[in-house]
Amino acid sequence: MCNGLFLFANSCHHRVLAIAGGLTHNRRMTQSLRVFDRRSLILVIGLLLSIGFFATTLFGYFVSRDAIRSAIIGQDLPLTSSNIYSEIQKDLVRPVLISSTMAHDTFVRDWVLRGEREVSEMSRYLAEVRQRHGAFSSFFVSEASGNYYTAEGILKQVREDEPRDEWYYRVRNMAEEYEINVDPDLANRDALTIFINYRVFDFDKRYIGATGIGLTVDSVRRLIREYQSRFKRTIYFTDASGKVLVYGGDTPSPPDLRQRPGLAAQLERILHERSGFYQFEDSGDNHLLNVNYLPELKWYLFVEQNEDVALAGIRQTLYVNLAISLLVTLIVSFLCYLTLGSYQSRIEKMASTDKLTGLLNRHAFGILIEKLLAGNRREPRPISFILGDLDHFKEINDRHGHRVGDQVLSSVARQLGSALREADFAVRWGGEEFLLVLPGCALDEALIVAEKLRHAIAASQPAPDNPAIRVTMSLGVSELGQEETADHAISRADDALYAAKHGGRNTIVQAAAKPAEKV
Ligand code: GH3
Ligand code: MG
Ligand code: MG
Repeated sequence: MCNGLFLFANSCHHRVLAIAGGLTHNRRMTQSLRVFDRRSLILVIGLLLSIGFFATTLFGYFVSRDAIRSAIIGQDLPLTSSNIYSEIQKDLVRPVLISSTMAHDTFVRDWVLRGEREVSEMSRYLAEVRQRHGAFSSFFVSEASGNYYTAEGILKQVREDEPRDEWYYRVRNMAEEYEINVDPDLANRDALTIFINYRVFDFDKRYIGATGIGLTVDSVRRLIREYQSRFKRTIYFTDASGKVLVYGGDTPSPPDLRQRPGLAAQLERILHERSGFYQFEDSGDNHLLNVNYLPELKWYLFVEQNEDVALAGIRQTLYVNLAISLLVTLIVSFLCYLTLGSYQSRIEKMASTDKLTGLLNRHAFGILIEKLLAGNRREPRPISFILGDLDHFKEINDRHGHRVGDQVLSSVARQLGSALREADFAVRWGGEEFLLVLPGCALDEALIVAEKLRHAIAASQPAPDNPAIRVTMSLGVSELGQEETADHAISRADDALYAAKHGGRNTIVQAAAKPAEKV
């Protein structure tokens, strides 16, 4: 691979280039000494952070959701229901009183007893009542004549065989003084009206007819609308068959409860139980429902809350919290990544390089040579070792002091480092002893490299403050034999170095070939 003149020239060229990249080279070498993977550590930190954030955010969300839910079920819906109920009862008190006054009015009774002669008198009376109390309609039905009087005069005659007059015969026969009845009002273009039907007696307690006023359910509807817009609850009244009678919803026509599959399935049970709490699915949303029976009206009051709409606020908060958690996790992970990266490189550098010279230490050498040999087993190529030792270095220390000695050592180390190729590495082997590992280089090229180094060191001025100081190096060179351990090849280089020292120093000795029995 590195044999031949051309190849040598080529690799020399590489060495010149490597001078400029000496620093990055060392960093790259220490990077390959990585003891832990930063990415997986960040992944674990990020994962732990997001699990923690997400768990607390979701836990908070579920706790608030349950709190809101039980507030809706336990308080909001029943309270709305009873508020509407009492409001309606309150609304009905005055009409009942008015109707009672009408039933006990001596004018009404006298007028009937006098033979219902002036229809205009009764009409004026009814018009007066209607106008004064803001009722929708007022009426009197005479038992004697069967006439149905309104503010406008005689509307009709009640007949027993007419289904729409069925109410009158019921009132005539009932035990109570009055009833509250919900009916389409014939006198008012069949608008849905609540009637107070009061029984009227003459002065001898004989039944003479029924009187009262009619209220449109508009006032109730207004009340429902108010609740609806204020609390986002859907409120409606149904009759005993489940038909929606009064509705304050957004849609103009009342909903058909049997068209809502989730509700329809439970409707019979709801109507049978008369009051209770229910929930059902509609268009993918969960609805909470409170039902109450109003015996006065024989109506069912439904108060409904779309749970998903009620939870929209905290769901929004959940999303914001999740987004913040994610952002914080990302930022923290990124900062950890950067911080860990810089600490990691510092620690790795400290653990693997020699402080004075910046070259790799023997610990780093141990790891790198392992890797190198492992790679070499897969793809064999020559590896050479150059072991160099400064000559009479003790004298420099003795003569110029330790500080100058240090200067010389780092200067020599720089020269070694700058002579390296990509894959080569230089190790501070001992005090003033250095090892170069040259992967891909056979012995003959390693000898040339050693010679160049020896020459360069001898020619250099290693201590800038003392230009007179010169230093030389003796070098032993070996190539890793087949099946030979690195230790063994290095010890052969050491032997060669010893020989170089004995041979007068400032020389290079090629190590003796690996003895066959030492394999
Ligand atoms: P030889 O040619 O036989 O190698 O002679 P030498 O004087 O170089 O060898 P010897 O082993 O006798 O001396 C090595 C000296 O290197 C002794 C030691 O104090 C010095 N030394 C080792 N490490 C450092 C160091 O980090 N800084 C300095 N200034 N001197 C060091
Ligand atoms: Mg020495
Ligand atoms: Mg020595």
